[in-house]
Amino acid sequence: MTRKLYVKSYGCQMNVYDSNRMADLLAPEGYVETAAPDDADLIILNTCHIREKAAEKVYSELGRMRQLKDDAAQEGRRVTVAVAGCVAQAEGQEIIRRAPVVDLVVGPQSYHKLPDLLARNERQETGIIETEFPVEDKFDFLPAPTKAATRARGVTAFVTVQEGCDKFCTFCVVPYTRGAEISRPVEKILEEVRNLADAGVREVTLIGQNVNAYHGEGFGRTFTLGQFLRRVAEVPGIARLRYTTSHPRDVDDDLIAVHRDLPQLSPQLHLPVQSGSDRILGAMNRRHTRADYLRTIERLRTARPDLALTSDFIVGFPAETEADFADTLRIVDEVGYAGAFSFKYSPRPGTPGANMSAQVPDEVKSERLARLQAAINRNAATFNARCRGITFDVLLEKPGRLPGQLTGRSPYLQPVQVMAPSHLIGTMASVTITEIGTNSLFGVLAERPRIGPNSAQPLEALGA
Ligand code: SAM
Ligand code: SF4
Repeated sequence: MTRKLYVKSYGCQMNVYDSNRMADLLAPEGYVETAAPDDADLIILNTCHIREKAAEKVYSELGRMRQLKDDAAQEGRRVTVAVAGCVAQAEGQEIIRRAPVVDLVVGPQSYHKLPDLLARNERQETGIIETEFPVEDKFDFLPAPTKAATRARGVTAFVTVQEGCDKFCTFCVVPYTRGAEISRPVEKILEEVRNLADAGVREVTLIGQNVNAYHGEGFGRTFTLGQFLRRVAEVPGIARLRYTTSHPRDVDDDLIAVHRDLPQLSPQLHLPVQSGSDRILGAMNRRHTRADYLRTIERLRTARPDLALTSDFIVGFPAETEADFADTLRIVDEVGYAGAFSFKYSPRPGTPGANMSAQVPDEVKSERLARLQAAINRNAATFNARCRGITFDVLLEKPGRLPGQLTGRSPYLQPVQVMAPSHLIGTMASVTITEIGTNSLFGVLAERPRIGPNSAQPLEALGA
């Protein structure tokens, strides 16, 4: 019997990956993915708990789901609503109390049990909650996606290599919702990457909450992320590699060396600093100073002069003064970020930051956020403007908005629009950037061949 599955992902790339794996897991049970919740038999909300707003979004979506479930019941159709992800892990029973429309709650480490939980739900069991951190490894129970499913997802893919976090930054819920840090075994990940490449994937992003803490076992030894990236780069068909999100403390010599040695490795690195003030970095328990961070960037840029940096920032962490915030503004200009995400500090239940005195008023946070975003946007615009006239390797991903146009991404993750025949989808093309738009770069297929995978020329034009 074919049933329809609607999965909605909130938050980070780890959730996007998990949502795909849930769909792969449920495919043999007869579930086919649909993009419309209205005709789904099973709805899974794969949730994010990182900020209060993200968590609250889930409850408003559940309000809509109640209506949808009632309408379906009137037509004699039964719809099952499941909440997965980090809100599920953090709030468990509370979700069913607040939203009785929910049939089952499953945490990020136990979604491999979904077929079982759904069978229990079909036997009319209500209020099913599965949020233990199981002893078994969920990855051992997750089937590989079919080639058709991989193809439908496009030529780029995320692969989770590391999960959980032991850093305990004082603002962050991840160590509580995702649990202790674990690294997947090398050979299993390589097999997953080979399968993706066989199905046409050309760009792989290795993901983890603290991805550069990776220490996976394989071939009789333990691999650092840098050592592991060298193995992944050997997989035939993988033209571009990325990894995210890294912690500045865990950038080691191996990792810096692969930025110099691996042409497949994207010259864009997301390295969140959160704050430019040593006092706030200390209170956040980030375990590095502003100077440590800048030194790491200098070493990375020595290894790869065209490296572009992006970051995450939090404004209004408890006790942040105007002077602390000025240090944050300064670091934005000092690094010259190509882009960054920035957030108002959101106190999260159970984290040390939530109990700290001197919480910053919301108006102050909003005002600082606006100033920070202006500084980030200014730097991003400067970076983008420097791209005009440069010939990039662009991985062409899908049809663009205009007829005859394709959309791809530059080595720096910028969307690039180019007139090109559709048979070039999935290939790395040389594109010369002619115009800088608000959300995209525009370019033309270059006459000169590219000088190497993921290269930009001239390299020094993009230096800090
Ligand atoms: N592991 C990554 C790191 O160490 O930077 C970040 C993971 S977190 C999922 C993504 C981003 O959300 C963080 O970098 C931080 O900027 C932001 N974030 C986390 N907790 C937050 C909070 N309580 N309030 C506001 N932003 C938060
Ligand atoms: Fe959260 Fe990242 Fe800090 Fe871990 S390192 S606690 S995931 S912000």
